[in-house]
Amino acid sequence: MAKRVHRCDVPGCGTERTRWQRLCTRCFTRLPGEMRTGIIDAHHQHRDADWRRLRKAAAVYLGFANLTSKIPPTQQHRVPLARVIELQQRLLGERTDA
Ligand SMILES: [Zn+2]
Repeated sequence: MAKRVHRCDVPGCGTERTRWQRLCTRCFTRLPGEMRTGIIDAHHQHRDADWRRLRKAAAVYLGFANLTSKIPPTQQHRVPLARVIELQQRLLGERTDA
């Protein structure tokens, strides 16, 4: 039997993950703690509605999905929120990498 490929829970990411994890390394490190534990816990506790909502929120946070499509293109953020935070932290001289 072929080995099943496990994909990251964040919609639009598509990166492979290890079987026992829900998120790929990249999403895991970029998401805030409450978001990643929320996704993991919701899945483990079979709270499917919460799991879907949190995955969607994570995709928006990481810039994979755009739920603001009802806003005219001229008013939409073209830079994902995670990138904005990264840039602001760099501007303020804060280190995010451990
Ligand atoms: Zn991912």
